[in-house]
Amino acid sequence: MIERDPESAAASHYDMIVIGGGIYGSHLALEATLRGFKTLLLEKKDFGWATSWNSFRIAHGGFRYLQTLDLVRFFQSVKERKWLLTHFPDLVKPLPCLMPLYGKGTRYPLVLGIALALNDCLSRNRNEGLVEDQFIPSGSLLSPSQTVSLFPTVETQGLRGSALWHDAVIKCPQRVLMEVLRWAVHGGATCLNYVRAECLISDNGDVQGVDAVDLQSGTALRYSAPVVVNCAGPWCQELARHFDSRAPDGLFHPSLAFNLVLNRRPPSPMALAVQSSRQTLFVLPWGKKTLVGTSHVRWRDRSDCINPEEQQIRQFLREINSAIPRFEATLDQVVRVYAGLLPAQRLESTKLSVQPVFHNHASNGGPRGFFSLSGVKYTTARLVAEKALRQICAFNKERLPEKTLQTRPPLIPHLTASGFIRLCEIDPSAAENHVNTLLQNESVVYMEDLMMRRTDWGMSPQDAEGVKAKVREILGWDESDQPVRDSAIQYSNAAQPN
Ligand SMILES: Cc1cc2nc3c(=O)[nH]c(=O)nc-3n(C[C@H](O)[C@H](O)[C@H](O)COP(=O)(O)OP(=O)(O)OC[C@H]3O[C@@H](n4cnc5c(N)ncnc54)[C@H](O)[C@@H]3O)c2cc1C
Repeated sequence: MIERDPESAAASHYDMIVIGGGIYGSHLALEATLRGFKTLLLEKKDFGWATSWNSFRIAHGGFRYLQTLDLVRFFQSVKERKWLLTHFPDLVKPLPCLMPLYGKGTRYPLVLGIALALNDCLSRNRNEGLVEDQFIPSGSLLSPSQTVSLFPTVETQGLRGSALWHDAVIKCPQRVLMEVLRWAVHGGATCLNYVRAECLISDNGDVQGVDAVDLQSGTALRYSAPVVVNCAGPWCQELARHFDSRAPDGLFHPSLAFNLVLNRRPPSPMALAVQSSRQTLFVLPWGKKTLVGTSHVRWRDRSDCINPEEQQIRQFLREINSAIPRFEATLDQVVRVYAGLLPAQRLESTKLSVQPVFHNHASNGGPRGFFSLSGVKYTTARLVAEKALRQICAFNKERLPEKTLQTRPPLIPHLTASGFIRLCEIDPSAAENHVNTLLQNESVVYMEDLMMRRTDWGMSPQDAEGVKAKVREILGWDESDQPVRDSAIQYSNAAQPN
């Protein structure tokens, strides 16, 4: 049970404090806990509210990395996709992806045929240990007519066929993140939302812990540990500088990335990889809606309100329409914008970093026991966290301990908004139990936490009101009773069409 008691938590001494409850911090807390480290995780808002909430939800299997022959990322992605398919069978599912081929550039059927064969051969152990309905099938080349039957509005002029392969889709990334945290807490970790790390405490250059503030009560608190890891995502650079004046630049150069949820039927039952004039776009069926991404634009702002401007959304819609014939997406179909900051290779660039950054601040004369970690993909966060932990242990001249925790808590079933409404109608007490399980186990402070980050019931603004009304009815929960409005999250992500 993730319990929120910041004051009692301050009475304990920890082996490690992780700052940031995104997917990187959550995995680090889990990896450390599995190996017997007493771990505290602090999150300034709600768990997973920032970049991790905005992922496009593809657990990449590495096919894309064959283009650049980046075999290290290829094998890491295959391994982590399998880990996700194994551990979250209801939340992570195989995803068929279709790419129409016109024989331009490298997009010749022959070239893609070789790439698909290589993809299958290099990932031949991809299904070992998986249950059959989680298997990732082999790729294949389809004829033009097969392509048209799967993607009826595809541009047929010059069409040479299509490439079909499988990745995996993370249906609800926020539930995966919560399950990772529940697992860590089951092993003894303490995970606190709405607690912001403020200052690093050190003595003679050795880290002693952090000063923090409970944003619900306003209480200042001190947490002690000899190791502090900054997993603050887009705030990683700022926090590193604040805690260590010698911190290098380049821990995180922000670049804005965003996806759009469109209130219209997807053009194909498969995920599509289509070419615009600038880049490859991905189109994902999202129930009766369509998720399209990803647009990358420069970012100069420094506020927590991370959102593209309307003209950037319009520009992206034009790009989508140029890539999908007869799609004609319009601004008023945009029901949600998923936006976040990703690390770029340089300041004010949109060229993304390809490698995670792990920095030991002591190596530049900074505090001993202070580390910063910033990653580039949701998919590989677990592996990156495990590697970071190995390096932290090496700094203390220790080997990475074996995992000692062998059990994990049973998964809480994932209910969609419509599934929940249906359950309310056919079995109100089961619906009530489900909401209570989430409230009692997952440190829900605001209604928004429940709607956006313990479930995806708020994903579609149209469905959200109906679900909220049901939850209020079940629990008699009046959101206005909840204190401290100024620490509630500003939703950058609800689109504001004209
Ligand atoms: C539009 C978009 C699409 C993407 N698509 C994919 C995809 O399809 N597949 C994929 O694998 N990856 C994808 N990614 C990348 C992936 O989402 C990110 O790499 C990952 O979520 C980063 O996680 P994080 O934990 O580093 O950061 P975050 O999730 O941003 O977490 C950092 C946390 O630190 C907290 N924090 C900051 N300062 C403090 C403080 N002082 N005290 C306490 N807490 C603090 C913040 O509140 C925040 O919650 C996508 C990203 C974007 C933006």
